[in-house]
Amino acid sequence: ATLTKEEILRIATEEGVNFIRLMFTDLFGTVKNVEIPLSQLGKALNNQMMFDGSSIEGFARIQESDMYLHPDLNTWLIFPWTPGEAKIARLICDVYNVDGTPFAGDPRSNLRRVLDEMKALGFAQFNLGPEAEFFLFKLDENGLPTRELNDNGGYFDFAPLDLAENCRRDIVIELEKLGFEIEASHHEVAPGQHEIDFKYDDVLSACDKIQTFKLVVKSIARKHGLYATFMPKPIAGINGSGMHCNVSLFHEDGTNAFYNPEGELQLSETAYHFLAGILTHVRNFTAVSNPTVNSYKRLVPGYEAPVYVAWSPSNRSPLVRVPASRGLGTRLEVRSVDPSANPYLALAAILASGLDGVKNKLTPPASVEENIFEMNQEELDAHHITSLPGSLSEALQLLEDDEVVKAALGHHIFEKFVAAKHAEYDEYRLSVHEWELRRYMSLL
Ligand code: ADP
Ligand code: MG
Ligand code: MG
Ligand code: MG
Ligand code: MG
Repeated sequence: ATLTKEEILRIATEEGVNFIRLMFTDLFGTVKNVEIPLSQLGKALNNQMMFDGSSIEGFARIQESDMYLHPDLNTWLIFPWTPGEAKIARLICDVYNVDGTPFAGDPRSNLRRVLDEMKALGFAQFNLGPEAEFFLFKLDENGLPTRELNDNGGYFDFAPLDLAENCRRDIVIELEKLGFEIEASHHEVAPGQHEIDFKYDDVLSACDKIQTFKLVVKSIARKHGLYATFMPKPIAGINGSGMHCNVSLFHEDGTNAFYNPEGELQLSETAYHFLAGILTHVRNFTAVSNPTVNSYKRLVPGYEAPVYVAWSPSNRSPLVRVPASRGLGTRLEVRSVDPSANPYLALAAILASGLDGVKNKLTPPASVEENIFEMNQEELDAHHITSLPGSLSEALQLLEDDEVVKAALGHHIFEKFVAAKHAEYDEYRLSVHEWELRRYMSLL
């Protein structure tokens, strides 16, 4: 149940909260915060907390730099740990312009805008269950991350191989204290790689949880002398880290709009249209779901990450899988997304793509049961299977041509995002990499 402003003020005082972090996310998925003392909480709860947005990348022009933070009362939370003496709470905020309109460059407000379009089509809720994977590296004596992994474990391994077990368990305990419903946690396929799954939620809350999840994973790992990274492919030659996104639409009465016991595979027409929309736009939203140079080192054959645009109800290799569970658990699993994505932007793109399929009654291609990675080009062509972009640069070109995904980001975010990502790619292109030196130095 949502607390009122008065209840939050009372709880904050009774619990002896000293500082409140007003948090929001920038275009690139980084959590930003303005910390206020308890004395300012009343003002903040009345949406009167102003901050200077001009210093935040991708946010505003200098002349319109004043912005207001509107705390989402649903996100009130007191952190269970105390750095030093202070007790700290947080509120996640939407960013507003001085004139009282939502700021177009705020990814969270932007996702709300796409959710309004969903509601106009008659759906009540968009659910997300994310599976964010991460690696644990050892810290050196200066507290800096090394390239050394914490263990040599593999999928579902037990201690003593899984040396990070205590760390992962502590992470789960902290997350539960923060109200996360943890469904499972396990060692992943690669050494040093882990996954912790929490229960799906309304997409806005689930994206907030992803942001909190990353902060908790990083800070608890550090307490264990480890460095947690959500970088998609920190080590060549082993699996990278993905963030599979399990998604579904609910009706007002709480039933799952993707489920139809009479339908083919017990899926509804809506599920097929939504799936078709995702498959139609996925190559074009890859710049958003996989937004770093490094993301494209993960999207290669041989490491369980998808490369080809296809779906399947059984096989785990395609880009979209329909997991076996039905009823409330009926969902699509989008497997290309990685944890470097800004979740608010990636999910806005996925939702808008799916809704485009629903609006235009798009039909998905036939599912693919064969191992796509064993097909040659002729077989791929015969099945009309295309590939995801191979680089951030290619992905940006595809994004620039997709009106549905552009509209999902809105003009402001699209412009700033694309400009920043082109600059990022150029910086990469202009640097000389280890590989080039190894390959050419002695040869040429
Ligand atoms: P996998 O089999 O791919 O490893 P996991 O069990 O790790 O999948 O994660 C499945 C995720 O799907 C969980 O976060 C779970 O809460 C979520 N989920 C379950 N039902 C739904 C639903 N209807 N909509 C969205 N997500 C769902
Ligand atoms: Mg999983
Ligand atoms: Mg599982
Ligand atoms: Mg996994
Ligand atoms: Mg999965």
